Amino acid sequence: MSATLSAQCCVVGGGPAGLMAGFLLARAGVDVIVLEKHGDFLRDFRGDTIHPSTLRLMEELGLLDEFLRLPHHKAYELAAWIGERKYKAADFRSLGGRCNFIAFMPQWDFLDFIAAHARALPNFKLLMQTSAEDLVWNGDRVVGVKATGPEGPLEISAPLVIAADGRGSHTRAEAHLDVEDLGAPMDVLWFKLPREESDPDETFGRIVPGRMLIMIDRGSYWQCGCVIPKGGAEELRQKGLEAFLDSIAKATPFLADRVGTLTDWTQINLLTVQVNRAKTWSRPGLLCIGDAAHAMSPVGGVGVNLAIQDAVAAANLLATKLRLGTVTDDDLAAMQRRREFPVRVTQRLQLAIQNRVVRSVLAADKSFEAPLALRLLNAAPLLRRLPARLIGLGVRPEHIAT
Ligand SMILES: Cc1cc2nc3c(=O)[nH]c(=O)nc-3n(C[C@H](O)[C@H](O)[C@H](O)COP(=O)(O)OP(=O)(O)OC[C@H]3O[C@@H](n4cnc5c(N)ncnc54)[C@H](O)[C@@H]3O)c2cc1C
Repeated sequence: MSATLSAQCCVVGGGPAGLMAGFLLARAGVDVIVLEKHGDFLRDFRGDTIHPSTLRLMEELGLLDEFLRLPHHKAYELAAWIGERKYKAADFRSLGGRCNFIAFMPQWDFLDFIAAHARALPNFKLLMQTSAEDLVWNGDRVVGVKATGPEGPLEISAPLVIAADGRGSHTRAEAHLDVEDLGAPMDVLWFKLPREESDPDETFGRIVPGRMLIMIDRGSYWQCGCVIPKGGAEELRQKGLEAFLDSIAKATPFLADRVGTLTDWTQINLLTVQVNRAKTWSRPGLLCIGDAAHAMSPVGGVGVNLAIQDAVAAANLLATKLRLGTVTDDDLAAMQRRREFPVRVTQRLQLAIQNRVVRSVLAADKSFEAPLALRLLNAAPLLRRLPARLIGLGVRPEHIAT
Protein backbone atom coordinates (compact mmCIF):
# COMPACT_ATOMS: atom_id res chain seq x y z
CA MET A 1 0.00 0.00 0.00
CA SER A 2 1.35 3.42 -0.98
CA ALA A 3 1.08 6.39 1.34
CA THR A 4 -0.60 9.27 -0.48
CA LEU A 5 0.10 12.96 -0.35
CA SER A 6 -1.12 15.87 -2.41
CA ALA A 7 0.26 19.29 -3.26
CA GLN A 8 -0.35 22.08 -5.74
CA CYS A 9 3.11 21.38 -7.17
CA CYS A 10 5.47 18.41 -6.82
CA VAL A 11 9.12 19.12 -7.68
CA VAL A 12 11.35 16.15 -8.51
CA GLY A 13 14.98 16.87 -7.57
CA GLY A 14 16.48 18.97 -4.79
CA GLY A 15 19.34 20.51 -6.78
CA PRO A 16 19.69 24.25 -7.41
CA ALA A 17 16.74 24.35 -9.84
CA GLY A 18 14.34 22.23 -7.80
CA LEU A 19 15.04 23.69 -4.37
CA MET A 20 14.91 27.26 -5.59
CA ALA A 21 11.66 26.64 -7.50
CA GLY A 22 10.16 24.94 -4.44
CA PHE A 23 11.25 27.78 -2.15
CA LEU A 24 9.96 30.58 -4.41
CA LEU A 25 6.64 28.86 -5.08
CA ALA A 26 6.08 28.12 -1.38
CA ARG A 27 7.05 31.69 -0.53
CA ALA A 28 4.31 32.81 -2.94
CA GLY A 29 1.72 30.67 -1.14
CA VAL A 30 1.76 27.49 -3.28
CA ASP A 31 1.67 24.08 -1.51
CA VAL A 32 4.89 22.40 -2.63
CA ILE A 33 6.51 19.01 -2.11
CA VAL A 34 10.12 18.56 -3.24
CA LEU A 35 11.51 15.03 -3.64
CA GLU A 36 15.27 14.46 -3.35
CA LYS A 37 16.64 10.97 -3.77
CA HIS A 38 19.77 11.51 -1.65
CA GLY A 39 19.82 11.83 2.13
CA ASP A 40 21.85 15.08 2.13
CA PHE A 41 23.38 17.65 -0.23
CA LEU A 42 26.95 16.52 0.44
CA ARG A 43 27.97 15.59 -3.08
CA ASP A 44 31.09 16.80 -4.70
CA PHE A 45 30.33 16.58 -8.37
CA ARG A 46 28.42 19.81 -8.81
CA GLY A 47 29.42 23.34 -9.71
CA ASP A 48 30.58 25.57 -6.90
CA THR A 49 29.93 28.95 -8.38
CA ILE A 50 27.34 31.46 -7.22
CA HIS A 51 27.36 34.14 -9.87
CA PRO A 52 26.39 37.82 -9.52
CA SER A 53 22.96 37.02 -11.05
CA THR A 54 22.20 34.65 -8.16
CA LEU A 55 23.70 37.04 -5.59
CA ARG A 56 21.35 39.74 -6.92
CA LEU A 57 18.42 37.37 -6.44
CA MET A 58 19.54 36.83 -2.83
CA GLU A 59 19.61 40.61 -2.45
CA GLU A 60 16.08 40.91 -3.90
CA LEU A 61 14.94 38.25 -1.41
CA GLY A 62 16.54 40.20 1.48
CA LEU A 63 18.87 37.25 2.18
CA LEU A 64 22.20 38.54 0.87
CA ASP A 65 23.84 39.49 4.19
CA GLU A 66 22.92 36.19 5.81
CA PHE A 67 24.02 34.30 2.70
CA LEU A 68 27.41 35.99 2.59
CA ARG A 69 28.05 34.99 6.21
CA LEU A 70 28.50 31.42 4.91
CA PRO A 71 32.16 30.57 4.21
CA HIS A 72 33.00 31.48 0.63
CA HIS A 73 35.78 32.79 -1.53
CA LYS A 74 35.23 35.90 -3.66
CA ALA A 75 36.57 36.03 -7.21
CA TYR A 76 36.45 39.53 -8.68
CA GLU A 77 38.26 38.46 -11.83
CA LEU A 78 38.66 35.38 -13.97
CA ALA A 79 42.07 34.69 -15.39
CA ALA A 80 43.80 31.98 -17.38
CA TRP A 81 47.47 31.08 -17.12
CA ILE A 82 48.87 30.01 -20.46
CA GLY A 83 52.35 28.67 -19.85
CA GLU A 84 53.98 31.28 -17.61
CA ARG A 85 51.75 34.16 -18.60
CA LYS A 86 48.55 35.31 -16.91
CA TYR A 87 45.68 36.59 -19.08
CA LYS A 88 42.82 38.44 -17.42
CA ALA A 89 39.53 37.48 -19.03
CA ALA A 90 36.65 39.00 -17.03
CA ASP A 91 36.36 41.73 -14.40
CA PHE A 92 33.18 41.46 -12.33
CA ARG A 93 33.88 44.74 -10.48
CA SER A 94 32.60 46.45 -13.62
CA LEU A 95 29.08 45.18 -12.79
CA GLY A 96 28.90 47.68 -9.91
CA GLY A 97 26.76 47.29 -6.79
CA ARG A 98 27.39 44.77 -4.02
CA CYS A 99 27.13 41.69 -6.22
CA ASN A 100 30.26 42.28 -8.24
CA PHE A 101 32.06 38.98 -7.72
CA ILE A 102 31.58 35.24 -8.10
CA ALA A 103 31.16 33.53 -4.72
CA PHE A 104 32.86 30.14 -4.70
CA MET A 105 30.96 28.13 -2.14
CA PRO A 106 30.52 24.37 -1.82
CA GLN A 107 27.15 23.67 -3.39
CA TRP A 108 25.93 21.73 -0.36
CA ASP A 109 26.20 24.95 1.74
CA PHE A 110 24.15 26.84 -0.82
CA LEU A 111 21.50 24.09 -0.98
CA ASP A 112 21.36 23.77 2.82
CA PHE A 113 20.80 27.53 3.01
CA ILE A 114 17.89 27.52 0.55
CA ALA A 115 16.42 24.36 2.13
CA ALA A 116 16.53 25.92 5.63
CA HIS A 117 14.64 29.02 4.44
CA ALA A 118 12.13 26.94 2.51
CA ARG A 119 11.52 24.54 5.43
CA ALA A 120 10.53 27.51 7.59
CA LEU A 121 7.45 27.92 5.35
CA PRO A 122 4.42 25.87 6.46
CA ASN A 123 3.40 25.01 2.89
CA PHE A 124 6.83 23.60 1.87
CA LYS A 125 7.81 19.96 2.33
CA LEU A 126 11.18 18.48 1.41
CA LEU A 127 11.22 14.69 1.33
CA MET A 128 14.82 13.47 1.39
CA GLN A 129 15.85 9.91 0.45
CA THR A 130 12.76 9.87 -1.73
CA SER A 131 13.24 8.86 -5.32
CA ALA A 132 10.64 9.53 -8.02
CA GLU A 133 10.10 6.30 -9.95
CA ASP A 134 7.07 6.84 -12.21
CA LEU A 135 4.66 9.50 -13.31
CA VAL A 136 0.95 9.18 -12.62
CA TRP A 137 -1.14 9.82 -15.74
CA ASN A 138 -4.74 10.70 -16.37
CA GLY A 139 -5.00 10.16 -20.13
CA ASP A 140 -2.14 12.19 -21.62
CA ARG A 141 -1.92 14.49 -18.58
CA VAL A 142 0.60 14.05 -15.76
CA VAL A 143 -1.25 14.27 -12.45
CA GLY A 144 1.36 13.10 -9.96
CA VAL A 145 4.44 11.07 -9.10
CA LYS A 146 5.05 7.60 -7.68
CA ALA A 147 8.09 7.55 -5.45
CA THR A 148 9.92 5.40 -2.95
CA GLY A 149 10.94 6.94 0.37
CA PRO A 150 12.54 5.65 3.58
CA GLU A 151 9.17 4.28 4.67
CA GLY A 152 8.27 2.63 1.37
CA PRO A 153 6.17 3.58 -1.66
CA LEU A 154 4.51 6.94 -1.87
CA GLU A 155 2.14 8.59 -4.34
CA ILE A 156 1.96 12.36 -4.62
CA SER A 157 -0.89 13.83 -6.62
CA ALA A 158 -0.30 17.31 -8.00
CA PRO A 159 -1.71 19.36 -10.91
CA LEU A 160 1.88 20.30 -11.80
CA VAL A 161 5.03 18.17 -11.62
CA ILE A 162 8.31 20.03 -12.14
CA ALA A 163 11.14 17.81 -13.38
CA ALA A 164 14.33 19.26 -11.86
CA ASP A 165 16.15 15.95 -11.58
CA GLY A 166 19.24 16.93 -13.55
CA ARG A 167 20.74 16.01 -16.88
CA GLY A 168 19.95 12.31 -16.57
CA SER A 169 16.31 13.20 -15.78
CA HIS A 170 14.30 10.05 -15.27
CA THR A 171 11.12 12.13 -15.07
CA ARG A 172 11.77 13.67 -18.50
CA ALA A 173 12.36 10.20 -19.96
CA GLU A 174 9.13 8.91 -18.39
CA ALA A 175 7.33 11.80 -20.08
CA HIS A 176 8.88 10.79 -23.45
CA LEU A 177 10.45 14.21 -24.00
CA ASP A 178 13.30 13.95 -26.53
CA VAL A 179 16.68 15.57 -26.09
CA GLU A 180 18.93 17.05 -28.75
CA ASP A 181 22.59 16.26 -28.07
CA LEU A 182 24.85 19.21 -28.95
CA GLY A 183 28.15 17.39 -28.32
CA ALA A 184 31.15 18.01 -26.10
CA PRO A 185 34.78 17.20 -26.96
CA MET A 186 35.82 16.76 -23.34
CA ASP A 187 35.26 15.16 -19.95
CA VAL A 188 36.60 16.32 -16.60
CA LEU A 189 38.61 14.48 -13.94
CA TRP A 190 37.79 16.00 -10.56
CA PHE A 191 40.09 15.64 -7.51
CA LYS A 192 41.36 17.48 -4.42
CA LEU A 193 44.89 18.51 -3.52
CA PRO A 194 46.04 20.16 -0.28
CA ARG A 195 46.40 23.94 -0.41
CA GLU A 196 49.16 25.81 1.38
CA GLU A 197 49.24 29.39 2.66
CA SER A 198 51.97 30.34 0.20
CA ASP A 199 49.88 29.18 -2.82
CA PRO A 200 48.30 31.76 -5.16
CA ASP A 201 45.18 33.26 -3.60
CA GLU A 202 42.88 32.97 -6.60
CA THR A 203 40.71 30.64 -8.61
CA PHE A 204 42.05 30.17 -12.10
CA GLY A 205 42.52 28.04 -15.18
CA ARG A 206 45.95 26.76 -16.15
CA ILE A 207 46.64 25.85 -19.75
CA VAL A 208 49.70 24.06 -21.16
CA PRO A 209 49.80 22.07 -24.42
CA GLY A 210 47.62 18.99 -23.98
CA ARG A 211 46.44 19.91 -20.45
CA MET A 212 43.81 22.25 -19.04
CA LEU A 213 43.44 22.47 -15.28
CA ILE A 214 40.79 24.41 -13.37
CA MET A 215 41.68 25.17 -9.77
CA ILE A 216 39.06 26.30 -7.25
CA ASP A 217 40.36 27.67 -3.97
CA ARG A 218 38.43 25.97 -1.14
CA GLY A 219 40.61 27.29 1.70
CA SER A 220 42.42 24.22 2.98
CA TYR A 221 42.42 22.45 -0.39
CA TRP A 222 42.25 22.95 -4.13
CA GLN A 223 39.29 21.49 -5.95
CA CYS A 224 40.92 20.63 -9.26
CA GLY A 225 39.26 19.80 -12.55
CA CYS A 226 41.48 18.36 -15.28
CA VAL A 227 39.90 18.63 -18.71
CA ILE A 228 40.60 15.54 -20.84
CA PRO A 229 39.51 14.53 -24.36
CA LYS A 230 36.05 12.95 -24.46
CA GLY A 231 36.23 9.27 -23.56
CA GLY A 232 39.97 9.58 -22.76
CA ALA A 233 39.80 8.48 -19.10
CA GLU A 234 40.41 4.80 -19.82
CA GLU A 235 43.54 5.53 -21.86
CA LEU A 236 44.89 7.69 -19.01
CA ARG A 237 44.21 4.90 -16.51
CA GLN A 238 46.07 2.46 -18.70
CA LYS A 239 49.10 4.76 -18.85
CA GLY A 240 49.13 4.75 -15.04
CA LEU A 241 48.44 7.14 -12.17
CA GLU A 242 52.05 8.23 -11.95
CA ALA A 243 52.12 9.47 -15.54
CA PHE A 244 48.87 11.42 -14.96
CA LEU A 245 50.16 13.02 -11.74
CA ASP A 246 53.43 13.90 -13.48
CA SER A 247 51.50 15.78 -16.13
CA ILE A 248 49.62 17.73 -13.42
CA ALA A 249 52.88 18.60 -11.68
CA LYS A 250 54.38 19.75 -14.98
CA ALA A 251 51.35 21.91 -15.77
CA THR A 252 51.32 23.47 -12.27
CA PRO A 253 54.79 23.16 -10.73
CA PHE A 254 53.77 24.45 -7.27
CA LEU A 255 51.62 21.32 -6.89
CA ALA A 256 54.53 18.94 -7.57
CA ASP A 257 55.23 18.38 -3.85
CA ARG A 258 51.68 17.17 -3.14
CA VAL A 259 50.33 15.32 -6.17
CA GLY A 260 51.60 12.24 -4.29
CA THR A 261 48.63 12.58 -1.88
CA LEU A 262 46.64 10.97 -4.69
CA THR A 263 47.54 7.30 -4.42
CA ASP A 264 44.61 5.64 -6.16
CA TRP A 265 42.28 6.33 -9.10
CA THR A 266 39.32 6.08 -6.67
CA GLN A 267 40.35 9.56 -5.40
CA ILE A 268 39.77 10.91 -8.92
CA ASN A 269 36.18 11.19 -10.19
CA LEU A 270 35.22 11.21 -13.84
CA LEU A 271 32.56 13.77 -14.80
CA THR A 272 31.16 13.12 -18.23
CA VAL A 273 30.38 16.42 -19.90
CA GLN A 274 27.12 16.69 -21.83
CA VAL A 275 25.60 19.63 -23.64
CA ASN A 276 22.01 19.09 -24.69
CA ARG A 277 18.52 20.56 -24.79
CA ALA A 278 15.08 19.02 -24.55
CA LYS A 279 13.14 19.76 -27.74
CA THR A 280 9.95 20.34 -25.76
CA TRP A 281 10.19 21.32 -22.10
CA SER A 282 6.63 20.54 -21.07
CA ARG A 283 3.71 18.14 -21.37
CA PRO A 284 0.27 18.74 -19.90
CA GLY A 285 0.89 18.68 -16.14
CA LEU A 286 4.71 18.53 -16.39
CA LEU A 287 7.50 21.09 -16.82
CA CYS A 288 11.27 20.49 -17.10
CA ILE A 289 13.70 23.07 -15.70
CA GLY A 290 17.46 23.31 -15.09
CA ASP A 291 19.68 20.55 -16.45
CA ALA A 292 16.58 18.40 -17.03
CA ALA A 293 15.66 20.90 -19.78
CA HIS A 294 19.21 21.79 -20.89
CA ALA A 295 22.52 20.31 -19.69
CA MET A 296 25.19 22.99 -19.83
CA SER A 297 28.89 22.62 -20.54
CA PRO A 298 31.17 23.48 -17.58
CA VAL A 299 32.64 26.30 -19.72
CA GLY A 300 32.01 29.53 -17.80
CA GLY A 301 30.58 27.56 -14.85
CA VAL A 302 27.09 28.88 -15.53
CA GLY A 303 24.93 25.74 -15.18
CA VAL A 304 23.86 26.34 -11.58
CA ASN A 305 22.94 29.91 -12.32
CA LEU A 306 20.89 29.06 -15.40
CA ALA A 307 19.11 26.40 -13.36
CA ILE A 308 18.26 29.04 -10.76
CA GLN A 309 17.14 31.52 -13.41
CA ASP A 310 14.72 28.85 -14.70
CA ALA A 311 13.39 28.40 -11.18
CA VAL A 312 12.78 32.14 -10.82
CA ALA A 313 11.06 32.35 -14.21
CA ALA A 314 8.86 29.34 -13.36
CA ALA A 315 7.80 30.87 -10.06
CA ASN A 316 7.13 34.26 -11.68
CA LEU A 317 5.04 32.74 -14.46
CA LEU A 318 3.17 30.10 -12.50
CA ALA A 319 2.85 30.91 -8.77
CA THR A 320 -0.41 32.86 -8.87
CA LYS A 321 -2.03 30.49 -11.36
CA LEU A 322 -0.96 27.45 -9.32
CA ARG A 323 -2.50 29.00 -6.22
CA LEU A 324 -5.73 29.66 -8.10
CA GLY A 325 -5.66 26.31 -9.92
CA THR A 326 -5.76 27.97 -13.35
CA VAL A 327 -2.46 26.84 -14.95
CA THR A 328 -2.95 25.98 -18.62
CA ASP A 329 -0.78 23.95 -21.00
CA ASP A 330 0.10 27.20 -22.74
CA ASP A 331 1.38 28.65 -19.42
CA LEU A 332 3.84 25.75 -19.27
CA ALA A 333 4.86 26.27 -22.89
CA ALA A 334 5.41 29.97 -22.09
CA MET A 335 8.26 28.93 -19.82
CA GLN A 336 10.18 27.44 -22.76
CA ARG A 337 9.45 30.54 -24.84
CA ARG A 338 10.94 32.71 -22.09
CA ARG A 339 13.99 30.64 -21.13
CA GLU A 340 15.05 28.89 -24.33
CA PHE A 341 16.60 32.01 -25.84
CA PRO A 342 19.10 32.64 -22.98
CA VAL A 343 19.92 28.92 -22.92
CA ARG A 344 20.52 28.76 -26.69
CA VAL A 345 22.78 31.83 -26.69
CA THR A 346 24.80 30.53 -23.73
CA GLN A 347 25.16 27.03 -25.20
CA ARG A 348 26.23 28.49 -28.54
CA LEU A 349 29.02 30.46 -26.84
CA GLN A 350 30.03 27.41 -24.81
CA LEU A 351 30.17 25.26 -27.96
CA ALA A 352 32.31 27.85 -29.74
CA ILE A 353 34.80 27.88 -26.83
CA GLN A 354 34.73 24.08 -26.53
CA ASN A 355 35.36 23.58 -30.22
CA ARG A 356 37.85 26.38 -30.88
CA VAL A 357 39.84 26.58 -27.63
CA VAL A 358 39.38 23.39 -25.57
CA ARG A 359 39.75 21.07 -28.56
CA SER A 360 42.95 22.75 -29.78
CA VAL A 361 44.54 22.88 -26.28
CA LEU A 362 43.87 19.17 -25.77
CA ALA A 363 45.28 18.32 -29.19
CA ALA A 364 48.38 20.56 -28.85
CA ASP A 365 51.72 18.91 -28.16
CA LYS A 366 53.93 21.98 -28.59
CA SER A 367 53.59 25.52 -27.28
CA PHE A 368 50.06 26.87 -27.36
CA GLU A 369 49.42 30.48 -28.27
CA ALA A 370 46.72 32.38 -26.39
CA PRO A 371 43.65 32.88 -28.61
CA LEU A 372 43.29 36.37 -30.08
CA ALA A 373 40.16 37.07 -28.02
CA LEU A 374 42.02 36.34 -24.78
CA ARG A 375 44.95 38.55 -25.81
CA LEU A 376 42.55 41.40 -26.60
CA LEU A 377 40.71 40.99 -23.28
CA ASN A 378 43.99 41.00 -21.40
CA ALA A 379 45.14 44.17 -23.17
CA ALA A 380 41.91 46.16 -22.86
CA PRO A 381 40.32 46.33 -19.38
CA LEU A 382 37.15 47.91 -20.81
CA LEU A 383 36.59 44.85 -23.01
CA ARG A 384 36.62 42.62 -19.92
CA ARG A 385 33.23 44.07 -19.01
CA LEU A 386 31.57 42.03 -21.74
CA PRO A 387 32.52 38.53 -20.49
CA ALA A 388 31.81 39.78 -16.95
CA ARG A 389 28.24 40.56 -18.01
CA LEU A 390 27.79 37.38 -20.02
CA ILE A 391 29.23 35.07 -17.36
CA GLY A 392 28.13 37.02 -14.29
CA LEU A 393 24.60 38.04 -15.22
CA GLY A 394 23.88 35.98 -18.32
CA VAL A 395 21.42 36.73 -21.07
CA ARG A 396 18.07 38.17 -19.96
CA PRO A 397 18.54 37.86 -16.17
CA GLU A 398 15.39 37.11 -14.19
CA HIS A 399 14.17 39.04 -11.15
CA ILE A 400 12.00 37.95 -8.25
CA ALA A 401 8.42 38.98 -9.00
CA THR A 402 6.63 36.65 -6.61
C1 LIG B 1 32.26 18.82 -14.84
C2 LIG B 1 31.19 19.81 -14.56
C3 LIG B 1 31.52 20.97 -13.86
C4 LIG B 1 30.53 21.93 -13.64
N1 LIG B 1 30.89 23.08 -13.02
C5 LIG B 1 29.98 24.03 -12.82
C6 LIG B 1 30.32 25.23 -12.14
O1 LIG B 1 31.47 25.44 -11.71
N2 LIG B 1 29.34 26.16 -11.96
C7 LIG B 1 28.08 25.96 -12.41
O2 LIG B 1 27.23 26.86 -12.25
N3 LIG B 1 27.71 24.81 -13.02
C8 LIG B 1 28.63 23.84 -13.22
N4 LIG B 1 28.25 22.68 -13.84
C9 LIG B 1 26.85 22.48 -14.22
C10 LIG B 1 25.98 22.30 -12.98
O3 LIG B 1 26.47 21.28 -12.13
C11 LIG B 1 24.52 21.98 -13.38
O4 LIG B 1 24.13 22.80 -14.47
C12 LIG B 1 23.54 22.25 -12.22
O5 LIG B 1 23.88 21.45 -11.10
C13 LIG B 1 22.10 21.98 -12.64
O6 LIG B 1 21.23 22.07 -11.55
P1 LIG B 1 19.88 21.23 -11.52
O7 LIG B 1 19.23 21.56 -10.22
O8 LIG B 1 19.14 21.42 -12.77
O9 LIG B 1 20.35 19.71 -11.52
P2 LIG B 1 21.26 18.89 -10.51
O10 LIG B 1 22.23 19.77 -9.83
O11 LIG B 1 21.78 17.73 -11.27
O12 LIG B 1 20.23 18.39 -9.40
C14 LIG B 1 19.31 17.37 -9.66
C15 LIG B 1 18.87 16.78 -8.33
O13 LIG B 1 17.83 15.82 -8.57
C16 LIG B 1 18.07 14.69 -7.76
N5 LIG B 1 17.41 13.55 -8.43
C17 LIG B 1 17.77 12.94 -9.57
N6 LIG B 1 16.89 11.99 -9.90
C18 LIG B 1 15.95 11.99 -8.93
C19 LIG B 1 14.78 11.22 -8.70
N7 LIG B 1 14.39 10.25 -9.56
N8 LIG B 1 14.04 11.48 -7.61
C20 LIG B 1 14.39 12.45 -6.73
N9 LIG B 1 15.51 13.21 -6.90
C21 LIG B 1 16.26 12.98 -7.98
C22 LIG B 1 19.59 14.57 -7.70
O14 LIG B 1 20.01 13.82 -6.58
C23 LIG B 1 19.99 16.05 -7.60
O15 LIG B 1 20.04 16.48 -6.27
C24 LIG B 1 29.21 21.71 -14.08
C25 LIG B 1 28.87 20.52 -14.74
C26 LIG B 1 29.85 19.59 -14.99
C27 LIG B 1 29.49 18.34 -15.72
